[in-house]
Amino acid sequence: MSKIKIMDEILANKIAAGEVVERCASVVKELVENSIDANSSEIKIELKEAGTSLIKVTDNGIGMDKEDAILSFNRHATSKIKDESDLYNINTLGFRGEALASIASVSNVVLKTSQGEIGTLVNIKGGKIIKVENTEARKGTIFEITELFYNTPARLKHLKSLYTELASITDYVNKIALSHPEIRFTLINNGNTILKTDGSNNLLKTISSIYGMDVARKMLEINNEDDDYIISGFISLPEVNRAGRNHIITLVNGRVVRNQELNRIINYSYHSYKPDNRYPIVVINIELDPSLVDVNIHPTKMDIKFSKLEELLDLVKKTIVNKLNRQTLIPVIEQPINDFDTELIVEEKLEIIEPKEELNESPKIEKTKYEEITLDFDNQIKEEEPKYEERLPLLYPIGLVHGTYIVCQNEIGMYLIDQHAAKERVNYELFLDKLSNPVKDKIPLLLPLTIELSNNEYIILKENFDFLNNMGFDIEEFGINSVIIKSHPIWLTKGFEDLQIRKIIEAVIHKEKDFDLAKFNDHLSATLACKASIKANTNLSINEMEELINELRKCHNPFNCPHGRPTIITFTKYELEKMFKRSGFESLK
Ligand code: ZN
Ligand code: ZN
Repeated sequence: MSKIKIMDEILANKIAAGEVVERCASVVKELVENSIDANSSEIKIELKEAGTSLIKVTDNGIGMDKEDAILSFNRHATSKIKDESDLYNINTLGFRGEALASIASVSNVVLKTSQGEIGTLVNIKGGKIIKVENTEARKGTIFEITELFYNTPARLKHLKSLYTELASITDYVNKIALSHPEIRFTLINNGNTILKTDGSNNLLKTISSIYGMDVARKMLEINNEDDDYIISGFISLPEVNRAGRNHIITLVNGRVVRNQELNRIINYSYHSYKPDNRYPIVVINIELDPSLVDVNIHPTKMDIKFSKLEELLDLVKKTIVNKLNRQTLIPVIEQPINDFDTELIVEEKLEIIEPKEELNESPKIEKTKYEEITLDFDNQIKEEEPKYEERLPLLYPIGLVHGTYIVCQNEIGMYLIDQHAAKERVNYELFLDKLSNPVKDKIPLLLPLTIELSNNEYIILKENFDFLNNMGFDIEEFGINSVIIKSHPIWLTKGFEDLQIRKIIEAVIHKEKDFDLAKFNDHLSATLACKASIKANTNLSINEMEELINELRKCHNPFNCPHGRPTIITFTKYELEKMFKRSGFESLK
């Protein structure tokens, strides 16, 4: 090759590097994916200064011979993908090839590789081969990248803080570890182990390595399928949630992908089990015929389109909702164990950072000692799922604290019920049912209610008279910009009729353009429920408490108010004994 041609090639690589190799995380990604393609069962990623001083990836894969080792840095060495459909059929992670050349053009790379016999060392800096020599015969491949972006100062400046770089590498390695529980991953920065998985092909163990035992114990396994899709994985209990949606991880045929609709439906499946702006931890694998997906072929994107999307969303939602609807979801108040306190503080800090960053950000800072607590992953105690109507256990009210919390007990422990949240849930389900299945039973108002509106509100409302008639209202024009209501649907709460009518009118006036009746009914039910529910500082009699608990037990979701706040929490007998240091110290009398 002539000198000029080589210069052209180096230039082309540098330009390509700008597109493919943007950050330390993209280098890690390329190298790790190479290791996976090489059938490695163990991949170790060592960083210094979040990869800005060193990125070293060591695998035990098939390795390369001398010729391939040199060729691998050739811009056109890409032999992996023959056509797009290969992407999801074969093992390769795809569409790179140019990447190694790009990385080598903006850094100093030392590659050591061997297929078990004589090894090869290749050193390339700034795209130029400095050295090729024989080296030791350890089977596998080691890439060492230093001086990243040394000759592209603009790119170097573009790097974010070390913390952000590390966070995005960690996020990537977490995800690839979740999609390959059969590979043993180690991620180390400045000598500190950030992630270590055991390669035992147990997804829950991988989840535990990333999120800790505490979260792993609160994951529910899901499995379902229809004619086109098989879904499996783990979903967190609603009480385990995060500020960012980054912990919803979707795999398609074992590959991490992104699909907004899928993320949205997963989060929506938890609706009213948790606040909508908190997100669950979910790892879902979807297996399907590759012909049903359309991949956006861009090296840095993982966006995917499904040709039978509605059907898939339906299946995912059904699976999650069915699972949640069959659990007892009363948060247990536990005494912190070991370093749990510091763990929590770390999490809190991370969560504050989360929403700002688009990519992802949950580097697990140094490990705490929770590994000492054991969880039998292979024989997870499969507690019998309680019968639908018995999810909320029988509870016996004792009294009321601060005019707000009902204290109850049973043989398992002590329970506190937030009386407003509980009544809100009961009312919400009642109203939602009435709004979704309207019957025209109505009650005349003794004193018809007139409502004055602004001129534009009045115009909008007049257009919606039919809508309100169907709900069970008799509503008519009454002078300038006023309406009169003579009767209302039968299910409004006694004593709150005026207030609720005004809320309904307000909601109708503010109906969105792209009106979704189900969402409208849901939102209106929650609003009406809040208005009609007992406020704090209202004293209930024991009978009234019993009645409320009975109503709550009949709810689809007795555990949360419509806004996702808990209605009930528990201190188990065991936890109480632990807190009073009774267990293990003296016999309980
Ligand atoms: Zn409320
Ligand atoms: Zn609420």
